[in-house]
Amino acid sequence: MHDLILRDARLPGRDAPVDLAIHAGRIVGAATSRGREEVALDGRLVIPGLWDAHVHFGQWARTRGRLDVSAAGSVAEACATVRAATADGLLIGFGFRWATWADAPTAAALDEARPAPTVLLSGDLHTAWVNTAAARELGCRAGLLREDEAFAAERALDASPLPQAAVQDAVRAASSRGVVGIVDLEFADTVEQWSARMGAGIDGLRVSAGFYPDLLDARIAAGARTGVEVDGTRGLLTHGPLKVITDGSLNTRTAHCTDPYPDGGVGVQNVDLDALTALMRRATAAVIHCAIHAIGDAANAIALDAFDASGARGTIEHAQLLADSDAARFAALGVTASVQPEHALDDRDVADELWTGRTGRAFPLRTLLDAGARVALGSDAPVAPLDPWIAIGAAVHRTRGDRAAWHAEHALTVDEAIAASTRGAVAPGEVADLAVLDADPWEAGADALRALPVALTLVGGRVTHAAL
Ligand SMILES: [Zn+2]
Repeated sequence: MHDLILRDARLPGRDAPVDLAIHAGRIVGAATSRGREEVALDGRLVIPGLWDAHVHFGQWARTRGRLDVSAAGSVAEACATVRAATADGLLIGFGFRWATWADAPTAAALDEARPAPTVLLSGDLHTAWVNTAAARELGCRAGLLREDEAFAAERALDASPLPQAAVQDAVRAASSRGVVGIVDLEFADTVEQWSARMGAGIDGLRVSAGFYPDLLDARIAAGARTGVEVDGTRGLLTHGPLKVITDGSLNTRTAHCTDPYPDGGVGVQNVDLDALTALMRRATAAVIHCAIHAIGDAANAIALDAFDASGARGTIEHAQLLADSDAARFAALGVTASVQPEHALDDRDVADELWTGRTGRAFPLRTLLDAGARVALGSDAPVAPLDPWIAIGAAVHRTRGDRAAWHAEHALTVDEAIAASTRGAVAPGEVADLAVLDADPWEAGADALRALPVALTLVGGRVTHAAL
């Protein structure tokens, strides 16, 4: 007897529905007997479960409870949102994008809006806007903090414990969107965090646990080869890549570019080629993959050089602006471009302003695929919501709402976008990580694709979400 049978499942590209049998966590093929449990899918589409290749899960779980300041178009508007908030004590807002604001955020403006401790984090987390009372509480400077100063303030905010209920809630929300796995690049010991979470019964997601250079020695000593399971997590938690942040971000004009920004700067390179190569060599010798944050074209070229010199395997995270000739290097070196398509829509106006004349090679998903490179889609949650359908919709339509597509020449097909958001296949012998859809993504319009309803999610044959 099979553990589970999904009756009348429709597989993409096939007309006749099939009964999918699942046993011991794997798809065994067509049903040959009854199932201990059976679910009638009534012809719904079944695709491999979705992965988000770049998440800061703790941040995401926290952000879901924070004041949303993403709609603010000026200091005054952000302050008005803060003034209208009804929180006691420390108020944390998230999501402002100030690169195109006419005036610069100041501590004084935020003090006037709310004398109590208030911190607003930018949508890309590279900026923290801190008022005087919050600065006292966090032990940092008041005003607009960027890069390392902002990261330090964020770490101080994250020192307060994140309730497991908030984590469970965020996991359930991901499952409801068909997500079966994430690469967690949180600024924390993600192995420790997820071991505890899974030990407490939070078992809705597979997690590849990334880490930063401060933990490299410990991971090497522990034999944390990428893909190896962490004991006691039933195969749900695996050791993930070494993440290295080599440049900044577009909004803060710190993404390292070959050509200057309008103000004359070219951004920052936090880790030079020699240091990066050395780190990547050490990881590679320990069979640890690398996830290299590079946004500007100069930073991407350096990251590719470091992959070449070190022989490392892994990803370049973001890959937002590329020299035309570098797409082929991703393919030749076997480096996956791990891209967050929704950022293209969030940042299109900023990019048009700061990367004038270069946006034809911004978020160049088409160029990458045509060059034979592998692409993996993600959200960088909380920068964009942890919802692969938003990423898929952005990759396919390069717009949202009523605006014209931004560089439609880089649009992916639905097939390509889903392939870049999944691992494995719906086939005998494969792990039963599946998403059952309540609408057809190949037929859905732009808005419907972003909000595509998911009826059922399975992780290893276990139901993690059911709405049918
Ligand atoms: Zn990130």
